[in-house]
Amino acid sequence: EYELVVGDVDRLRRLNEALGHERTDLVLSALASRLAAAFPQDASAARIGEDEFAIIVPKTAAHTSYRVREALEQPLRVAGFDIYPTVSIGALVVEGGPDAPDAAELLRRVELAVESAKAAGRGGSAAYGRALESDSLSRLALEADLRNAFVRGEIVPFFQPIVNLNTGAVAGFEALARWRHPRRGLVPPDEFLGLTADLGMMNELGLLMMTQSARQLAEWLERHPLAGRLFCSVNLSVGEIERPHLCEDVARVIKESGLPRGALKLEVTEGDIMRDTERAAEVLQSLKDVGASLALDDFGTGFSSLSYLARLPFDTLKIDRYFVLTMNKDEGSAKIVKSVVNLGRDLSLEVVAEGVENAELARLLLEAQCHYGQGFGYAPALPAQEAEVYLAESLADGSAPIKQRSA
Ligand code: C2E
Ligand code: CA
Ligand code: CA
Repeated sequence: EYELVVGDVDRLRRLNEALGHERTDLVLSALASRLAAAFPQDASAARIGEDEFAIIVPKTAAHTSYRVREALEQPLRVAGFDIYPTVSIGALVVEGGPDAPDAAELLRRVELAVESAKAAGRGGSAAYGRALESDSLSRLALEADLRNAFVRGEIVPFFQPIVNLNTGAVAGFEALARWRHPRRGLVPPDEFLGLTADLGMMNELGLLMMTQSARQLAEWLERHPLAGRLFCSVNLSVGEIERPHLCEDVARVIKESGLPRGALKLEVTEGDIMRDTERAAEVLQSLKDVGASLALDDFGTGFSSLSYLARLPFDTLKIDRYFVLTMNKDEGSAKIVKSVVNLGRDLSLEVVAEGVENAELARLLLEAQCHYGQGFGYAPALPAQEAEVYLAESLADGSAPIKQRSA
């Protein structure tokens, strides 16, 4: 008996777009040699797709998936860029015997496991099993459902408070997409964004999120005049800053909602900017001109070239939750958080830490002089009504006390 394990490098397309083919190939060959080095005996490793590595080991080897992940997820430096690869892993036990499936069937099965790992978000793992076969059928059903979901208004923004870590006051919200599925219940974005992209409906999602969030924020500002400079940020999806009419759409949304300048904030990731910095700079400036403010999302996970930052009209840096969540255990993360905060100060950018899950992290962030945070320690993304209650309470007593995360 053997085990077949496939590691699929997440977000390779973005890496490719940002670094170009040649550098991406360097990354891939570095990963391949790491994998080979991690399994010196009894194993054969191969690159089986553009971004996939397979390894076959005897079933007696222990912790194979874990070792594949360990080997592939080490940070590496290529041509001056720091890369933090994450990998989705699918595993399959290969049994011998007369009824054994052939190679093509084995690959199909292990790919299904990889798909399922990916559906769980970046860095997931899954083993092949019967249930996955019916999942792929249900994917078809989901696809039909999703087309209808937009029409029926089942896709809605939830709102996660972004809090002033010093005072506990709500500074703004991040709108996060949720699908209120009539049978499945609340579906998180990781489970339908991929499908939305496959269906070519990403722009529709972006517009829907912007329109509804702006409308909601305007309502809150009207009912809670004390909220002052409250903002709401909306995520742009990969490639959205390149789409035609984005600026016109944003301008219209802001105008129709009557929001003050800067209240609608758009979150963009590094990969989006690195693809074509000149073009991105123009679009970002036009977005500012029509009254949006701008945040650089997941800062630190991308392809850290800092030179562009000073030249782009961002208002906010968001430190990726990976660094925040590990800052009490990992000195490197703590240093990165501190230097991002310093960078923000030097460039006059507001810095928001993601992933503030507990009071200790909030304290460490304050120590690092980071002023804003969002995370489960304050609140998860809430339905609009609950978000408003949260806001009202914060306005009443000026603070949103951090809760210890209940396990
Ligand atoms: P993101 O932009 O990094 O959003 C933050 C994610 O972190 C959210 O996951 C949020 O629920 C989660 N989070 C918040 N606080 C904590 C915490 O303390 N600990 C941990 N571990 N996680 C925390 P969510 O809502 O599942 O969204 C996942 C991703 O999906 C988002 O990552 C964003 O990239 C994407 N997304 C969500 N809504 C939209 C949307 O409307 N449009 C687009 N294009 N992407 C969206
Ligand atoms: Ca975001
Ligand atoms: Ca983020």
